[in-house]
Parts: sequence; C-alpha cells; structure tokens
Amino acid sequence: MVDTRLGGVEHVNAAFLFEGPQPCLVETGAQLTADVVLAALREHGLGPDDLATIVLTHIHLDHGGAVGELAAAFPRATVICHRAGARHLIDPTRLIASAALVYGPALDGLYGRLTPVDADRVVAADDNQLVDLGQGRRLRLVESPGHAKHHLGVFDEASGVLLVGDAVGIQVPGGGPLRPSTPPADFDRDLAIASLHRFAALQPAQVVLSHYGPVGEPQAALGEAERVLRDWCDEAERVVGRGEGLDHLVLALAERFGAAGGAAVAVDPAVRNPVLHEFTSFESNAAGLYRWLQGRAGPEGRGGGTTRA
Ligand SMILES: [Zn+2]
Repeated sequence: MVDTRLGGVEHVNAAFLFEGPQPCLVETGAQLTADVVLAALREHGLGPDDLATIVLTHIHLDHGGAVGELAAAFPRATVICHRAGARHLIDPTRLIASAALVYGPALDGLYGRLTPVDADRVVAADDNQLVDLGQGRRLRLVESPGHAKHHLGVFDEASGVLLVGDAVGIQVPGGGPLRPSTPPADFDRDLAIASLHRFAALQPAQVVLSHYGPVGEPQAALGEAERVLRDWCDEAERVVGRGEGLDHLVLALAERFGAAGGAAVAVDPAVRNPVLHEFTSFESNAAGLYRWLQGRAGPEGRGGGTTRA
C-alpha cells in the first residue's frame, strides 16, 4: 500500500502495488500527488519498463487522476478500467467538467485534472476480467457499481485481499467510523448494496479501502457498510420525501450522523483541514443522495443536486 499523501495529509488516499514478474499498480492517486506514487514505485525497484499494468477501481480523480503521468513514466504499462470509464481516460473533457461541479475549488487546489492516455494503451475491462501478475498469480476484477457505475473491486485470489475502492465506504483517521460514499452523479443504493453482497460472496480474507486501508473482520465490515448505507439513504428519503431541498439534506445528515456517526471534524469549526473536510463533510454525499432520489422520481424530478450546497 502506497500512501499518496493527498494534500500533504497522511492516511487518506492509497494506491497499491502488486509485485511479481508482471507488477501491477492499482489506483494512481490524484494528479497532484503523481510524484509521490512515482517515487514509491522507484523505491520498490521498478524501472520504466517494469510496470505491466495500471488498474483503476474507478475513474474519480482521487483514484485515477494521475493515470496520464503514470502511463508516461511506465510506457509499457497497459491501463485497465471499467468499460464505462475507458473513453474518459482517452478524452477526459466530460470527466473534468463533471468533477469541477462536484469538487469546486478542490479540483485544482487538491486533486488536479487528468492527462489523457493513448487509446491503444487503454483496456476496457469486463466483469471477472483477469490481470496476470505472472507465475500463475492473478487479480480478478469484480464489477461493483453503486458508488459509481464504472467501479471495479480488485480481488487477489492468492492472498484473498480485496481492494474495494470506494464501494464499501470511507474511514480515515480523525473521520470517525466507517461511512458511506454516495457522491453524484451515479450513486445508486440498490446497486451499491448488491455490490456489497457480491464482495461478501467472494469471502475475502481482507477488505481494503482506498480511503484508507484494511478494515476489520471482512464479513462484519461489509455488513456494517450495508447498515450505515441504508441509514443514510433512509434519512435522505425522509428529508427529500418531505419536499426539502439539498441544503436541508446536508444539515439533516450532519445532525443525524455528525456526532454519533463520526465525522465530527466536519461540524467542528475548529477543524479546518481541507483534506479531511473533503472526505468527511456531508455536501458530496448529500448531493449524490439527492440526485439519486430525484432520478428515481422520474425524468421530471431531475435537475439540481449536482452541485454542492
Ligand atoms: Zn470515488
């Protein structure tokens, strides 16, 4: 596990290196921390010709933003992501426009953007696609939509380690207990829960979050992830069902989950760390939940909810 030190903060955003005859990097981190990941790979002895594959759990900029820099530094590496995300690595115009809406000033202040990757280096992965590490060892890519429609889990069949990206949630130091990650524009509760069940069925020996690191006993953690996700979605359904807008939903989530549910940093004005705020505030989750409920209400219910409160 490589700490990308997003915004200079430790233990918030991870990348992962699988060593072996055909080394594989899972996650690149954000563009602005590309140098941190490049230095870590060099420290592990990888020369420019050594990296075989770069796998993204999904194309959100904290996971794949540095893919162009990594691909340039390792010209033999194939870049693999979900088939719904591949075209956005080749032409990131729409991805960045959408990220600007979600991240606001943090786009250039914290994450950076995404340098395009040549089309002939990008592989659009199908469910259960295998990534060869050499010597009979392989990673299985597990389609796991919900947090995003272009999300893959990465299962190391030999060790039982399951990298879950953002599909199980977020738990960062100082951010309280495990919480769901329900950002715009794709969040879908039922898909997210089905993905948790799919992960559980793999019977992983370890579940590892991109934000940040291994969680406790895997089945218990996956069950907890489902419970907290349902709680957040239920709260959102209640608030939006009363006809309240996005700004009220932000406040309601903060009130319900801020103290008891952790993320106290987000409501404590004394804490102004912008990186922790990014991963523990309520705006992004509220916006994704709001959009999910608007979309469920039908096309006439759409609109709004894509920007921060
Ligand atoms: Zn994400």
